[in-house]
Amino acid sequence: MIRERFAPSPTGLLHLGHAYSAAVAWTSASARGGRFLLRIEDIDSERCRTEFEQAIYEDLRWLGINWLPPVVRQSDRLPAYALALQKLIDLGICYPCRCSRKDIRQSLSAPQENRLGESSLSYEVYPGICRNRSMRDKTDGDAVRLDLNKAFDCLGGREAVRKLKWLETGPNRDGEQRVDPEFLESIHGDIVLARKFIGTSYHLACVVDDDEQKITCVTRGMDLIDSTPVHRLLQELLRISPPVWHHHELVRDHNGRRLAKRDDARSIRRYREDGYSATEVFELAGLPLSKNFGESIGDA
Ligand code: GLU
Repeated sequence: MIRERFAPSPTGLLHLGHAYSAAVAWTSASARGGRFLLRIEDIDSERCRTEFEQAIYEDLRWLGINWLPPVVRQSDRLPAYALALQKLIDLGICYPCRCSRKDIRQSLSAPQENRLGESSLSYEVYPGICRNRSMRDKTDGDAVRLDLNKAFDCLGGREAVRKLKWLETGPNRDGEQRVDPEFLESIHGDIVLARKFIGTSYHLACVVDDDEQKITCVTRGMDLIDSTPVHRLLQELLRISPPVWHHHELVRDHNGRRLAKRDDARSIRRYREDGYSATEVFELAGLPLSKNFGESIGDA
């Protein structure tokens, strides 16, 4: 059974890019008799707002996108992340980190535009200041990082890591992919598994929840493609079998820039208020819809 998901963060109103992403995943599930699930990625309590979560439900319904309940809300799942984190800690591959965001200017959460204007990553690799600290010395104000080299050793070394595969079906990198330890090292470094006071991070929560929701295909934008080897590595460490990934093209504005939530003029809500129909919104997003689009494949 194919299971796809849409996993927005309620940090703003959904825009054409979200409509596109949700519809690609919905259509892929529906075409193969599968299921489409919804997950609200709301671990960042400072940026996430209830009204944006309500707007997600409202906008998706208006677009004709239905999902199989229950909706997973990450803020309800902190114990599951703590359990997964503990498994990684027990492997002896984690360390507490007290460096502030400002100090290291590293992006610790999901989607930020990078130098290519594409990826979610900032490409500033943590220099390992706290690497020799022990988990026994962790305080509440510390984050937890994955010691990449120890993680590689735990899986049998770099050559073993290089054999970790996954299947990508997206337009840009179709076919079998493999984890490249040097890419992980140079692009991600010792990733944050748990942000201070939050107890998890985008990467950890995403991997744990895709497993919990039994997702067989992760459909999401190209901006997240570089996160995939991190997720594949975490899956291996946590003994989770990998899904297939499909990273689709991004919807861009007339200047070729990817759409961002801060660009309120392009929110789906705004189009709706301006009298557009859902079909017209999908046309604007550049997505031809199948005839059965909107037929129920869930109970929402
Ligand atoms: N929450 C992320 C976003 O809103 C998506 C993460 C994912 O699909 O893995 O962009």
